[in-house]
Amino acid sequence: MNLVESVARAASYLERHGVSSPRLNSEVLLGHVVRLERVEIYTNYDRPLSAAEAEAYKSLLVKRAGGCPLQYLTGAAGFMGLSFEVGPGVFIPRPETEVLALKLLEGLPPGRAEILDLGTGCGNIAVCVALRHPSAVVVAVDNDRRAVELCESNARRYGVSDRIRALVGDLYDALEGRSSPLFEAIASNPPYIPESAVGGLPVEVRDFEPMEALLGGPDGLDVVRRIVRYAPAHLKSGGRLLVEIDDGQVEEAMNLFDGGWEEVRYHEDLAGRARVVEARLVATGLSGVNPCSEHR
Ligand code: GLN
Repeated sequence: MNLVESVARAASYLERHGVSSPRLNSEVLLGHVVRLERVEIYTNYDRPLSAAEAEAYKSLLVKRAGGCPLQYLTGAAGFMGLSFEVGPGVFIPRPETEVLALKLLEGLPPGRAEILDLGTGCGNIAVCVALRHPSAVVVAVDNDRRAVELCESNARRYGVSDRIRALVGDLYDALEGRSSPLFEAIASNPPYIPESAVGGLPVEVRDFEPMEALLGGPDGLDVVRRIVRYAPAHLKSGGRLLVEIDDGQVEEAMNLFDGGWEEVRYHEDLAGRARVVEARLVATGLSGVNPCSEHR
């Protein structure tokens, strides 16, 4: 069978198993097996598949039909036009998080800027910020060692390892005992799905992605609360906190910024859904000094 015939058969197999975008999935997986870009499948349409390639393709298709996310099968996920290495056990970057990365970048001053990325996963936000802001230095934290290793690997791949320090730990605890700066900005895509919503998640997410990266307690905001509460001790005076949330949580999330914060607002994603809450720590007038920092 040649490449195009294989893709057509695979697409109808995936469709029968209820996989959405079956054609796209079968093209990406075949491209992964034969090491070609999707479009090259068509420019090499009559190239035959070897027996070993056909076997490898079949095995990926069976896993995909069983719900395994495409990104875990290929080991790659797209974010802000870049490809990030991902793997089982680590959250797959979502397009809606691009809003967080863009808003974070928008507000950074041109010179050196220290950023803290809490729950970095494969490091997609940290690496994008380091690439787009040549003087940004990012501390990227995750409580899963596999995530931290992927973050380091992605930082190396894009040549920004010297400006990303990846640490294993639970949110701000990862900074304890280290000399850490006061940050210009803290950004996080934390777990924020309410526990009760777990049953409604797609199989790809529910059965394959790490629940600790997704679930945020009864109302989904447990981790967001901790992030907001302890942020003042780690931010410069006038520094910003940006946290991803879900549309339905925007009001409650904005109410968490009570006292000591200003410019509390939210940003929508491209689908018009509230997706990021942002606030600025009230400036004390003393440049860079944050009175809370003594109480860390
Ligand atoms: N937006 C993600 C989803 O719906 C959830 C991300 C998260 O909890 N950080 O799958």
